[in-house]
Amino acid sequence: MELMYKSTRSDETVTASQAILKGLASDGGLFVPTALPELKVSVEELSKMSYKETAYAVMKEFLTDFTEEELKSCIDKAYDSKFDTEEIAPLVKADGAYYLELFHGATIAFKDMALSILPHLLTTSAKKNNVKNEIVILTATSGDTGKAALAGFADVPNTRIVVFYPKGGVSPIQEKQMVTQKGSNTFVVGINGNFDQAQSGVKAIFGNKELEKEMDKAGFQFSSANSINIGRLVPQVVYYVYAYAKLYAEGEISKDEKINVVVPTGNFGNILAAYYAKNMGLPINKLICASNDNKVLYDFFTTGTYDKNREFMLTTSPSMDILISSNLERLIYKIAGCDHEKNQELMMLLSKEGRYDITDAMKEELKDFYGNYSTEKETAEVIKSIYDKTGYVIDTHTGVAAEVYKKYVADTNDCTKTIIASTASPFKFTRSVMNAIDSKYDSMGDFELADELSKIANVEIPKAISEIRDAKVLHDTVCEVGEMENVVKKFLGI
Ligand SMILES: *Cc1c(COP(=O)(O)O)cnc(C)c1O
Repeated sequence: MELMYKSTRSDETVTASQAILKGLASDGGLFVPTALPELKVSVEELSKMSYKETAYAVMKEFLTDFTEEELKSCIDKAYDSKFDTEEIAPLVKADGAYYLELFHGATIAFKDMALSILPHLLTTSAKKNNVKNEIVILTATSGDTGKAALAGFADVPNTRIVVFYPKGGVSPIQEKQMVTQKGSNTFVVGINGNFDQAQSGVKAIFGNKELEKEMDKAGFQFSSANSINIGRLVPQVVYYVYAYAKLYAEGEISKDEKINVVVPTGNFGNILAAYYAKNMGLPINKLICASNDNKVLYDFFTTGTYDKNREFMLTTSPSMDILISSNLERLIYKIAGCDHEKNQELMMLLSKEGRYDITDAMKEELKDFYGNYSTEKETAEVIKSIYDKTGYVIDTHTGVAAEVYKKYVADTNDCTKTIIASTASPFKFTRSVMNAIDSKYDSMGDFELADELSKIANVEIPKAISEIRDAKVLHDTVCEVGEMENVVKKFLGI
């Protein structure tokens, strides 16, 4: 039977491929599967599968309007030599936990796990729905998503991608990663403005009906690679299933033994994928939600009140510096008993007043979750202590998760075996990581620091870093905020 996708804010219902094409529902809601499918294969069978085979076993349950051939072809194109290990997502045992390394893709952060397959899911969805136009992806980035989207869409037929970033508002390495991007369908533009202006500019272009008509005439249509797209969420369920089966295959856990999962969280996409895996039947005990100083989610899990009215903190784990976790809406909808009116009411409160309270009955439904946070000091200390004890070096986001795991064990004495989602390579946040280990590194340049990290961690410098060292700058367009639309038109030749 076909699995349909429904908006969290109305009765709008579409197929999987339509949900991927649309991204967001017309009413502003997020698409959720009308029922969470069950995992049809046993752990025994899964334990013998490769990453790609696991991806097929999991994703076919969600994307039921894709044929076997279509889905397998998407998976093959995504999880290939762009990853530096055939395992795709290796598990490393260190300091009493299993680190699930989700950073072996093109941009050495976990966004690659989904963004390497999304372009293929999107172009397949376009074909299935008789969309003849070329898909133009528009993205505003504060650093990480832009590069991961560029790497995913580069040279994918029938797509183009335009990324806007705040000139001077991203790290030198992040900028270098983007402006050296290859692929004739890629276009990177710095804007004289901040990230919010870049994002508002992109939203205005998306909302421009005149432009939409003009684009359609010229054979183009816009789409988004945003993290609320169901095509980004579904591929993330895969690695939790894969990791569980691997623990079983290696004799680390027995049949049906429950595990905990810790996820360093920002937009709530990654941890929601783990929750979906649990709902599919994967034996997960607690879902541990780790926050940095922007601890909106910790407060939400402890009090039942979501309140974004607070100071925004800049931390050394910037991909988690978020006050509105957009994917949380999918959980709210579910714990409200899949009541879209109740969800709509809470989301309206969030946009009008910046806060909402959930009911006691909804709070009951959150028992699967545990939330806590790590301060800047604690994150630095845990990176150093794990390195001192084991020689293993983790990045700052993973550091937040490692610290929250320590707090969880101290709070509960729960000794269930635990997977920690390791969301970025330490080479992506070299300066903060090396400073945490020893202040003597502070005076070194970025690439010099990478050399040092390689030495102390005994890990080769990832290609993502070594290849940009001497790479040629291929994108040097800079524009004013007001010129963004014209820049896009010029790139498309309309
Ligand atoms: C995006 C990101 C996160 C947060 O993931 P969400 O799915 O948004 O919760 C954590 N760590 C890193 C390195 C990221 O890039």
